Amino acid sequence: MGELIPLGEWEAEAACRETPNDLYYPSRGDSEKAEFIRMFCELCPVRGECLGYALDKRERHGVWGGTTEKERRVLQRLLRKGLSVEQVVAMVLAGELDEEMAARRTQARRPRE
Ligand code: SF4
Repeated sequence: MGELIPLGEWEAEAACRETPNDLYYPSRGDSEKAEFIRMFCELCPVRGECLGYALDKRERHGVWGGTTEKERRVLQRLLRKGLSVEQVVAMVLAGELDEEMAARRTQARRPRE
């Protein structure tokens, strides 16, 4: 079994607290693993805290708060435009960015020409 996800006072409530850490760092293109982890995130009571932490720390790797690295690039762009971490997290939790993030996922699956 891998290590537990570290970090944050919210960790004790994390839906993934007993899940091997390596599941959260799928290899590039391993969308199946990322989708599996997302199921935990959807039910997680501290999803907002987790995503906020990742955005604040500019975590570049792994799944955090139900978002992949590529999806967080969409969110980082909003931060660069002046939105706060709290605002961006609220938008994600409200589903306001679902389309943009889904477009990112689709892009990721498109084979290279
Ligand atoms: S949102 Fe996902 S990655 Fe973050 S603590 Fe919850 S289950 Fe773990």
